[in-house]
Amino acid sequence: MSAQPNVETEAWPQSYGDEAKPRMGFFTDTSVCIGCKACEVACKEWNQVPEDGLLFTADSYDNTGGLGANTWRHVAFIEQDRPLRVGDGEHGDGDAFRWLMSSDVCKHCTHSACLDVCPTGAIIRTELGTVVVQEDVCNGCGYCVPACPFGVLDKREISDDGRVWKCTLCYDRTREGMTPACAQACPTESIQYGPLDELRERAGARLDKVVADGFAGARLYGEDPNDGVGGFGAFFLLLDEPEVYGLPPNPVDTTHDLPEMWRSAAVAAGALAVGVAACLLGGRR
Ligand code: SF4
Ligand code: SF4
Repeated sequence: MSAQPNVETEAWPQSYGDEAKPRMGFFTDTSVCIGCKACEVACKEWNQVPEDGLLFTADSYDNTGGLGANTWRHVAFIEQDRPLRVGDGEHGDGDAFRWLMSSDVCKHCTHSACLDVCPTGAIIRTELGTVVVQEDVCNGCGYCVPACPFGVLDKREISDDGRVWKCTLCYDRTREGMTPACAQACPTESIQYGPLDELRERAGARLDKVVADGFAGARLYGEDPNDGVGGFGAFFLLLDEPEVYGLPPNPVDTTHDLPEMWRSAAVAAGALAVGVAACLLGGRR
């Protein structure tokens, strides 16, 4: 078990050799999401994800709750008592109010802790740089569940054997050059699929436009390769702080300190062995 090298510069292109393709990903622009949930439905339908019981939570109009074994795309609805943009509501209309909507998904992290801790090799990095759980290899041990800094991975307990499930970035489609089902279904192009470099460029330009249009709190989340998980393969344009959407502000790869921990443990074990040997030899004199 070791922390992974950077997927963009080392491990993934080398392990796939000539078969490695440009890294592909998602850019989810939440500023144009209308909360229609077509992405959730398309994901379920294409991937044959079981129904998980629609429930209103009483504090939101959302009826699917969050990401889970049976919800690989989740559209959050956030209701805020504040104006949509800077300058709105300044003329005494008194009813400042806005909806934030955002379609969440597995982040396909550059340093993916889930992949790092999996003892069976069920979680792999594909030739497209995406992170996939192989359903026929997963044994349901669940080590990856607490390792994910975003709470994405989940065991399917009901009517299954406890294996873990999550977004595959529609690997069966993307390896054939097709667009993932959610991006294909989104009527507003809130979900965009493509080469990650291109998406990052597009997102930068879009952010400038959104800020110029008066959304002062807008920001990109997960596009920075220098963040705690080395950047996401599925990143976002948000209109407010990540916490507002239930996302961690500074996510860190949970296996980041493993090599250092193993080194410290080896040094401690070595010191202990020397101590025991010294005691034994001393006792014989
Ligand atoms: S978000 Fe979680 S499940 Fe997805 S790649 Fe990152 S660590 Fe793995
Ligand atoms: S399909 Fe597009 S617009 Fe509709 S909820 Fe999903 S991301 Fe939003």
